[in-house]
Amino acid sequence: MPSEPKSTENYVEKPKTLAALREEISSGRVKAADLAASYYARIEQKNPRLNAYLSLTRERALAQAERMDDLAAKGDPLPPLAGIPMGIKDVLVMRGAPSTAGSRILENYEPPYDCTTVTRLEAAGAVLLGKLNCDEFAMGSSNENSAFGPVRNPVDPDRVPGGSSGGSAAAVAANLAVATLGSDTGGSIRQPASFCGVVGVLPTWGRVSRYGLIAYASSLDRIGPFAANVRDAATLLGVIAGHDPKDATCSAAPVENYAAESDKPAAGLRIGVPAEYFGEGLDTEVRDAIEKGIAALEGAGCTIKPVSLPHTKYAVPAYYLVATAEASANLARFDGVRYGYRSPRSATLSDMYAHSRDEGFGAEVKRRILLGTYALSAGYYDAYYLKAQQVRRILAEEFLRAFAEVDAIVTPTSPFPAFKIGEKAGDPLAMYLADIYTVTASLAGICGVTVPCGATKAGLPVGMQVLARHMGESTAFRVARAVEASAV
Ligand code: GLN
Repeated sequence: MPSEPKSTENYVEKPKTLAALREEISSGRVKAADLAASYYARIEQKNPRLNAYLSLTRERALAQAERMDDLAAKGDPLPPLAGIPMGIKDVLVMRGAPSTAGSRILENYEPPYDCTTVTRLEAAGAVLLGKLNCDEFAMGSSNENSAFGPVRNPVDPDRVPGGSSGGSAAAVAANLAVATLGSDTGGSIRQPASFCGVVGVLPTWGRVSRYGLIAYASSLDRIGPFAANVRDAATLLGVIAGHDPKDATCSAAPVENYAAESDKPAAGLRIGVPAEYFGEGLDTEVRDAIEKGIAALEGAGCTIKPVSLPHTKYAVPAYYLVATAEASANLARFDGVRYGYRSPRSATLSDMYAHSRDEGFGAEVKRRILLGTYALSAGYYDAYYLKAQQVRRILAEEFLRAFAEVDAIVTPTSPFPAFKIGEKAGDPLAMYLADIYTVTASLAGICGVTVPCGATKAGLPVGMQVLARHMGESTAFRVARAVEASAV
């Protein structure tokens, strides 16, 4: 909390744990329908300033809550997320609900189907309250690129919540949802979670089905949960993870009981600390907080070892080539023909494409389509895209070598805490550099968790990133639990 609050209104509130809520609902002491109504009341009160929700799915939420209340009244066994109020990032499609991806081009788009993660959450009893604001097509690190206005950080509303899943992080921090889903291509779950003081999970690439995710960069995109504590985040991952015949890139590897695994003590785990993540550009207060977190892990019985990831410095340029190249291909589908915005100012078909895209896309999205198209064009492909792919392979191999010696790697999630709204908005390069510690794991395909790890003197949250090898989520959760328990 800021030592001198700038606003008289306090937005930060910790949601109850899943276990506590589940107990209240299954015993009938709390009705899921009343709980949902109380969340809508809080959203009405706090959302106008925070701008975390873009739209609400009241009817659907209340129908689901009533179903859960009926089950409880009959004494039937309740599914694991029965009655839990949640929010969904607006890049995830929900049947009949606006799914804008933060873009004007999809402003009136109501998809005819549900994404798999929504189907799984609802099958587990979750009550989905609405759709959460984000940077347009998930491109950004501050949520300032949303066509529907920035989200404010509940800890300090003059600051950004991080991005691109800013609404998902802010909603949990302000208790406008007990938990949320976001997507992470280069840091979009981890960085906003760290800025808002909540837990965020980057599952292994392929661990969670992306059927129904509006694609940004398909070789990097992942869906993952936000929660107020590590155990809840682990429970949620267990619900959404696992094979899906609708997504050919989704792994059939068995889903572990992440919540139970996270209960195991971290003692005995070997923790790697890469010097490359503690160099120039790291805010000293963030460094201090992370060093305290590392000391706490040592106190919990972990062995701390230096590891080296020497090609880290090439990760940001490699990421912004691969991501923009894939984005230029993925966003070609928005042409105003079958769905989305169509410009009325068009005499010919090619005019219609050009005007619809020009009027529908925001500046950052256009910048990335141009960059990506350039990087893939004849004559430049080898120099840029191919080079970036080679760097990507080297980074992945470096992680593999490091994970031969350690069970997890810990780093700051972001080089600095939440910055002021507007502070970096005019400088795309400075914004891209905010992703310096997150894009490496994205390129390598490995998994990670960000967990709150202290705060700056001004009360801004600091997040520790815990990385683990492919399908090593259970280990990342165990380490994150130890950091959480130490209350750095
Ligand atoms: N900030 C990064 C980008 O703009 C990451 C965004 C994301 O993970 N979706 O590409």
